Amino acid sequence: MKKTIDDLQLNGKKVLIRVDFNVPIKNGKITSLKRIISSLPTIKKVINEGGKAIVFSHLGRIKEEADKEKKSLEIVAIELSKQLNQEVIFINETRGKKLEKAIDKMKNGQILLFENTRFEDLNDKAESKNNPELGKYWASLGDVFINDAFGTAHRAHASNVGIASNIKESAMGYLLEKEVSALSKVLDKPERPFVAIIGGAKISDKIGVVSSLLEKADKVIIGGGMAYTFNKALGFNIGNSLVEEDKIDLAKEYLEKYKDKIVLPVDHATGKSFEDQERIVNKNNPLQILDGTMGLDIDKYSIELFKKELENAKTVLWNGPMGVTEFSNFKYGTEEVAKAIYKLSDAYSVIGGGDSVAAVESLGFEQAFSHVSTGGGASIEFLEGKELPGIKSIQDK
Ligand code: ADP
Ligand code: MG
Repeated sequence: MKKTIDDLQLNGKKVLIRVDFNVPIKNGKITSLKRIISSLPTIKKVINEGGKAIVFSHLGRIKEEADKEKKSLEIVAIELSKQLNQEVIFINETRGKKLEKAIDKMKNGQILLFENTRFEDLNDKAESKNNPELGKYWASLGDVFINDAFGTAHRAHASNVGIASNIKESAMGYLLEKEVSALSKVLDKPERPFVAIIGGAKISDKIGVVSSLLEKADKVIIGGGMAYTFNKALGFNIGNSLVEEDKIDLAKEYLEKYKDKIVLPVDHATGKSFEDQERIVNKNNPLQILDGTMGLDIDKYSIELFKKELENAKTVLWNGPMGVTEFSNFKYGTEEVAKAIYKLSDAYSVIGGGDSVAAVESLGFEQAFSHVSTGGGASIEFLEGKELPGIKSIQDK
């Protein structure tokens, strides 16, 4: 068991807190406050206990000097201060005298945010490559370390693994703890029936998730782009749909080994090209995709079938949209599956994955889920059964 924030003595301590403030910014404005709001419980705990909260995060990617202007965390400091109704000291440096002095001057209960950790990537990718000197330096700025950034937990960076490996005490923050417990609940002790839904673009991206869930779930519904490789393996016509020829044998192997578990779409909404357009459905034979068209969503018979599979589920895990939700005419399948999950009154449901979560949020269906994961890649690697370095590096109780 990993230490959590509740295991730490915080009063009077310099508490380093790695959060995920990688917020979307458009025309100089933050367009979603979700990540800032999600970090508040941990920050509040630290200041309420009389700790000095030294907060930091990455924001986007920094490849050249010119990227820095648009990727400063100053805008987040202003928002954080509003949210907490308290001063947030912003230091526009990631190291050096100015930062060190500001930390020395902090009083108990104060908050300081320092600049985007990835500014250090201009220095031979020091942050992203976990330069040992950088992790050690950041660790030297505090007494204890709290990691509350789930979104980067699948990466070994200086601002998570580097610090954790160089400090006396480390723990998970509330958000990280919540993510780990929600995803572990599903993977380790799901109440059954456990129905998993996997979608998205390619099997090759999701192979780890597919095979991990085929072992653990009672049913695995497969939609989105990867369904066509399976349908082709079954001998159906898939027209110009996305297919991975080199994965057909694997699809056949899974269909054989898990024939009672895999549930595939039984009809399709197609288009003539990969762009938004009217939905074409083969009315005479919904299982077969018409030549010259490609599958872009599931249609009503698949939804009926998937709803039936979900009806008695006690645990539901969803990763990957059912269709190309970027096109408004092909959101239907994803929306209907979200509705079906919303109706399950006594199931524990979790959704993870960058595009799936974005799709469900834009449809306004977050409340359908017991837990909406804040990590894209991190939640996928967690579901694959991998131990994430950002979590592994935290001290055990
Ligand atoms: P997540 O980020 O939730 O893990 P993925 O990245 O695996 O999901 O998949 C999302 C992508 O899958 C989207 O860009 C979407 O357009 C694509 N996709 C979904 N259905 C299809 C389809 N039928 N054909 C091609 N691409 C698809
Ligand atoms: Mg994605």
